[in-house]
Amino acid sequence: MHVNPCLTCGACCAHYRVSFYWAETDAGSDNGVPAVMTDQVNDFLAAMKGAHTSSCRCTALQGVTGESVSCSIYERRASTCREFAPSWENGIHNMRCDQARLAWGLSPLRPESWIDPNHFPKAA
Ligand code: SF4
Ligand code: SF4
Repeated sequence: MHVNPCLTCGACCAHYRVSFYWAETDAGSDNGVPAVMTDQVNDFLAAMKGAHTSSCRCTALQGVTGESVSCSIYERRASTCREFAPSWENGIHNMRCDQARLAWGLSPLRPESWIDPNHFPKAA
């Protein structure tokens, strides 16, 4: 059975600054990213609150990283989030997914992770 490894991870949402063109917020787009959950970085970019601070955890991330997580604005998340694919989904390696997981003590995904959920080792 296919299990999405992101649901027991969330490492990228608690590791990288998540920034995007400010007009992706609901200040510029219908049903955009809630602007109240963002900070303006400069004239062009907004970033998710939390993700660009020392805590480095997106304010929309719910749950416990590495155990069980969800995104409270999943349907309205930014293109940066939509385009960040977990490693080996559709056969494509994402080194930044690996790096975020390693930073949280999680082993990088492998191609077989998408076939057999037992290939989601928790420890790096
Ligand atoms: S908006 Fe959602 S998907 Fe994007 S970084 Fe935050 S928790 Fe992750
Ligand atoms: S680090 Fe990779 S596996 Fe973890 S939530 Fe992000 S995309 Fe998914």
